[in-house]
Amino acid sequence: MQFEYYNPTRLIFAAGALARLGEIAGRHGKRALLVTGGGSVKRNGVFDRAVASLKLAGVSAVECSGVEPNPRISTVRRGAKIARENGCDVIIALGGGSTMDAAKVMAAAFYYDGDPWDMIFHGQPDPYVPTRALPVITVPTLAATGSEMNMGAVISNEETREKSFVSTECLYPAVALVDPELTMSVPKDQTAYGICDLITHVTEGYFNGVDGTPIQDRFAEGVILTAMQWGPKAIADGSDLEARAQVQWASIVALNGWVNAGTNGGFPVHMIEHTLSAYHDITHGAGLAVVNPSWMRFAARHRPEKFVQFAERIFGLQPARPDDLACAMEGIDRFEAFLRSTGCPTRLSELKIGDALLAEYARETVRIIHDDQGRLPGWPPMSESDIVDVLQSAL
Ligand code: NAP
Ligand code: FE
Repeated sequence: MQFEYYNPTRLIFAAGALARLGEIAGRHGKRALLVTGGGSVKRNGVFDRAVASLKLAGVSAVECSGVEPNPRISTVRRGAKIARENGCDVIIALGGGSTMDAAKVMAAAFYYDGDPWDMIFHGQPDPYVPTRALPVITVPTLAATGSEMNMGAVISNEETREKSFVSTECLYPAVALVDPELTMSVPKDQTAYGICDLITHVTEGYFNGVDGTPIQDRFAEGVILTAMQWGPKAIADGSDLEARAQVQWASIVALNGWVNAGTNGGFPVHMIEHTLSAYHDITHGAGLAVVNPSWMRFAARHRPEKFVQFAERIFGLQPARPDDLACAMEGIDRFEAFLRSTGCPTRLSELKIGDALLAEYARETVRIIHDDQGRLPGWPPMSESDIVDVLQSAL
């Protein structure tokens, strides 16, 4: 195991923290670009409270509203233009992962004269890697992606039907201002998809990573068990602040680099899901709920021991041997049943995706990211036909 770890984002986590937005933004600038999604923050009063806090601190704000779920590169271009035209010196993302991701790329696009799509990893030619960005303050309203405290962003190109990522240090937000009260209005379905997303962030590292990462394994299991304990409470009663806070903290820990440090694996489930989202504009967490169990059954045949450990430590199953495949599969079945119990779909048909384009999804996924043998990185690396098989068994 070897790794280098760096995360400069200041995390402020407290119910009621939104009231501090002005004070915190004022440390980074005087003119903010306030990035928002499709209107939830307007309907629930969060936007007005944010603006009031900024005003009190003498920070003026211009808005870029309308960031769509699966945020589009055209929206990033629009936001960067607004920031430049208004001489903004700080960007505030008030919304879910989509809003935060778009805001992060806008912050880098502010300093880049070319097309921001150049920054998104999408096969050839090599992307432009940004090294400079405006300071970003993330104020998440949905617990899922961990984008508030990581250096990643996922953007879709509606013209080329691609969805992919950028991940580089200048995209770390300056501050993550996390107020779990803001997530209390998230509907049940989005709450469940967020729980699936956060769990998948750690299962990717857990199952695809190198051997010999015992602390990371325990971190990952802690995140999964916490999400499975508190997630259903947050779904059952959205106003349960304690449950909302536990789920949100789990979502941040899951992808701020700490749990997966040194695992050095691929993110195959995410990569396959991104292609499905690019083609069908489905919700990320819902797509993961379909792909992940099916991928697990494929991978367990190649690496049963890790899936046996998962079955044992997450579901208390008792394997006959360390490579007891039946036990591994039973653990995966239970995981899938958990996802279903939260209201997540677990079949492609529930997402209205049929079998017509499976080979194309596989080709496209591998085109965007592949090892030197043309396979999707992960454990095991996947050929296009492996991807088709995984999707076929999720129909
Ligand atoms: P999202 O796409 O940001 O939001 C989903 C929906 O939830 C939107 O309709 C949004 O409405 C609504 N919503 C958000 N907060 C709400 C609230 N407090 N009350 C009521 N409704 C609310 O969802 P997300 O799962 O957080 O982000 C998904 C995106 O992040 C995907 O593109 C995914 O690929 C990406 N992602 C990024 C990372 C990363 O590390 N950067 C990791 C995983 C996934 P409004 O638009 O009206 O606000
Ligand atoms: Fe994700």
